[in-house]
Amino acid sequence: MHEAWTHHEVWVFECLCCEGSWDEEFRVRHSGDGHGNAAVIYERQGQPCTTPWMDRSCPTCGGQNVKALSATHGRHDDLPIARSGSDVAMVFHLRRMHAW
Ligand SMILES: [Zn+2]
Repeated sequence: MHEAWTHHEVWVFECLCCEGSWDEEFRVRHSGDGHGNAAVIYERQGQPCTTPWMDRSCPTCGGQNVKALSATHGRHDDLPIARSGSDVAMVFHLRRMHAW
């Protein structure tokens, strides 16, 4: 019996190349893996995708230099995302490599 729940997050992206910005809504699915570990899966338009702050490119100019801000938590706190976000991303990365 796995615990699972979902919530929605809206992320705002800013391109540092052309200064364009846009937002995307993600569905975040949390579930346990049955071993006491929590797994988090981001989905966009029903498809699993990478975490919002990774591998984004600008739809206008195609630039990879994109800043992700969580609109859910307010636009002013991009610092925690930039710092702890990379740690979390690393955890996802490791989890994918070793456990999935
Ligand atoms: Zn751009």
